[in-house]
Amino acid sequence: MKTPAGIECAQFYGDYYRGRSHEECRLLPNWQAELCNTCPVPDILRANSCENMHLNAEVNRSIFTLFQKRVEVSTFCEKKKRVVDNPKIGCGECHPLPPIFEVKE
Ligand code: SF4
Repeated sequence: MKTPAGIECAQFYGDYYRGRSHEECRLLPNWQAELCNTCPVPDILRANSCENMHLNAEVNRSIFTLFQKRVEVSTFCEKKKRVVDNPKIGCGECHPLPPIFEVKE
């Protein structure tokens, strides 16, 4: 479903049936529409759809974003039981690169 920012996101739900306008993010309980503008989740889900990867999202403010609210995501592999450092690539367990992409030394 498309978010208010116009991006497809599997975590977004909107109910507009018969005049309703209920919107929610299934990752963030205290979701606000403007969080979708800079959220990294749609990019992550487009790059990696591994069903074993679990996303945890939280809203933070930092000095680097001039105290604007931003969604920060951490990922965890349920199969390997470890943190995934690069969620767009994954942990490498389920979807290894084909040998043609391996660098030989
Ligand atoms: S905040 Fe992020 S995860 Fe939630 S609906 Fe918006 S884009 Fe999707």
